[in-house]
Order: sequence, then C-alpha cells, then structure tokens
Amino acid sequence: MPIHAYAAGEPRAALKLFTYEPGPLGADEVEIEITHSGICHSDVHLIDNDWAISEYPLVPGHEVVGTVRAVGSNVRHIHVGQRVGVGWQCNACYACEWCLAGEEPNCKEHVATCNGHHGGFADAVRTDWRFAHPIPDALPGETAAPLLCGGITVYTPLKRHVSPGMRVGVIGIGGLGHFALQFAAAFGAEVTAFSTTPEKEAEARSFGARHFVCTHDRKAMEAAAGSFHYLLSTVTAALDWPMWLRMLRHYGTLCLVGASPGDIAVPAMELLVGQKTIRGSVIGGRGIIREMLDFAARRHIRSKSELMPMREVNAAVERVRRNQARYRIVLVN
Ligand code: NAP
Ligand code: ZN
Repeated sequence: MPIHAYAAGEPRAALKLFTYEPGPLGADEVEIEITHSGICHSDVHLIDNDWAISEYPLVPGHEVVGTVRAVGSNVRHIHVGQRVGVGWQCNACYACEWCLAGEEPNCKEHVATCNGHHGGFADAVRTDWRFAHPIPDALPGETAAPLLCGGITVYTPLKRHVSPGMRVGVIGIGGLGHFALQFAAAFGAEVTAFSTTPEKEAEARSFGARHFVCTHDRKAMEAAAGSFHYLLSTVTAALDWPMWLRMLRHYGTLCLVGASPGDIAVPAMELLVGQKTIRGSVIGGRGIIREMLDFAARRHIRSKSELMPMREVNAAVERVRRNQARYRIVLVN
C-alpha cells in the first residue's frame, strides 16, 4: 500500500505531498498507521540541513505514535492492532558492545527514523519491531509522541546525573525543556527554568520549576551565579558558554542536549579550578525508553501539546522554527 507523506525536496524547502511505495515488508519490520506525530526542533534542523547530513527527499518526523497495521514474518512481541510508537532511532545491529549494553544510540549501524529513511510526517511509517515501543494505556497520543524523542532526550541525562536536593537549571523552555522541568522535579531536584521568554514563567512553574530566571535579566543572572549542581541546555542557539560555566558550583556539570552550532570555548582555569564538567547526551536506548514511558505514565508527566492537522504541516514547522510553539506541536491524522 502506498504511503502518503510530506517531504522537503531541498534544504529549507516547504514540505510537499510525497507518495511512495515502501515495497515488501521486511521480515523484522512493522508498519504503523500514524495517529500522532510530534515536531521536534531536530526536524527543523534536518529540513534546513543545519547539520549537513540531510538526505532529500526528506520525510521528517521521529516522534510517532499509531497502530500496527502489518508485521513481518520474524516479528515477535508486537501484533497487528497494538498501539506503539517510534522515536529518533528505528534500527541497530543488536550485536555490538553498545547494543548489548542497552546503548543502541551509539551503534555504528544506528538507523535514524527520518534521515535516509522516510519518517513520520505521513499516514504510516515502518520500523524494525525492536524499536516499536508499546505505549502505556495511561499516556494519550499527544503526550506519548513527544516523549519518544523530546522526553527521552532529557530523561536519560537527568536520570543518570540528578539526585534529590540538587539545584538543577534547565536552559530553554521549549519541547525538551518543558519535559526536563517535569522530570527533574519528579527526581526531587530544586529546579530553575532559564528562559529568554518572560511570558513562559507561569507555565514553567506549573511544570515544576521552583524558580524562573529570564536570561535577559542581568541582576537575576548574577544572583544565580555559582549555585547550580547541574545545568541542562536544550537551546538551539550558541550561548555565552563561559557565563553558563560560572553559574555552576564547584564540581558542577553543564550537559548539552540542544544542538547548539559551533564550538564551545571556555576558560580552561574555570574548568580546572572549579573542577567542572561539560558533557553531552543523545536520546536513549530501548531499555531506558520503556522505563521512561512507564515513569511518565505513573508520575503524570504530560506534554503541553498544540494539535494541528497533518495537512497544516508547513504552518506548524514554521511555528517551531520561530519559537512560537507552546510547547510541542503534534500533527494528527
Ligand atoms: P524547541 O521546542 O524549539 O525549544 C528550544 C528552546 O530554546 C526555545 O523554546 C527557547 O526557549 C530556546 N531558544 C531558542 N532560540 C534561542 C536563542 N537564540 N537563545 C537562547 N535560547 C533560545 O526545540 P526542542 O524540540 O526542544 O529541541 C531543542 C534542541 O534539542 C534542538 O537543537 C534539537 O535538535 C535538540 N535535540 C537533541 C536531541 C539529542 O538527542 N541530544 C534530541 C532531540 C532534540 P525559551 O523561549 O525558554 O528561551
Ligand atoms: Zn527529536
């Protein structure tokens, strides 16, 4: 059956209707009829070829939830009619040291759902069955879809690094940031939201921020310096990294999940004398994705999503590009 999708034909192009014939279903594949498809800022980076890796025609979409409508001959544990989702990654080798350790994003044979493979801005998508994650009944589609990339990307580092009582700052309150506030608060941290958008204060507090700092407020920024155990940057832009390093306490960590362009130059002495760490993190493996979905269902983690019809995909992408989404746009079929 042909799949009806939206594709960019070249960098920064508007998405156009694109129908493709996916061919015979692979033995390990499942085909998902899509109900919900979140727009992550990585989709915008891919459409715009910001990372110089985009393959066109490019069908974006890697926060997908829907119903399984076909399964290949080897597929086990997933059945037709089941509600599942797929995130950034849709296949791996399952045999390397990373796959064996549950760290599939590091696998050399990692397959991305929406680059070199047609993604979820469509009526259907295919994935290896091992990356079709069953969705807990308690999670509505508009929350489950954004959790599959935005949610797991912040859950993984926060779960690894944050313990109760730590002072945690989340920089950038967009799709990832609004999940980060909820997860960090659920892990018992005292959470501060850092935002360029003062209008986000009330909602940031409702997501779990105890404090809100507008990053344009110099006095408030100076008052916060030297106080954080852990900072998580979700922003899409290059920041004043030396300033953010000074926000940390001794032994503090600045973790980047936002795909900031360019290099990070910081004074070596600040790292050395402050005994500070700068690190990065990407998505999460299959095991931690299942754990995160279960945690989100039990702890009432929610996506504040704006639902838009799939046919309005170009208007929706533009809202994400301009930082107008509050806080995730989810396309619905
Ligand atoms: P988003 O919804 O657009 O949110 C990004 C937020 O960054 C904005 O809401 C804004 O927050 C802040 N921001 C935007 N422009 C800024 C600027 N010029 N200066 C300072 N702050 C700015 O995007 P998202 O979907 O959360 O994705 C965020 C980033 O994470 C993207 O780069 C994406 O590619 C990356 N990502 C990485 C992974 C991974 O595995 N590491 C996975 C998914 C996404 P305020 O209005 O609060 O300032
Ligand atoms: Zn993403």
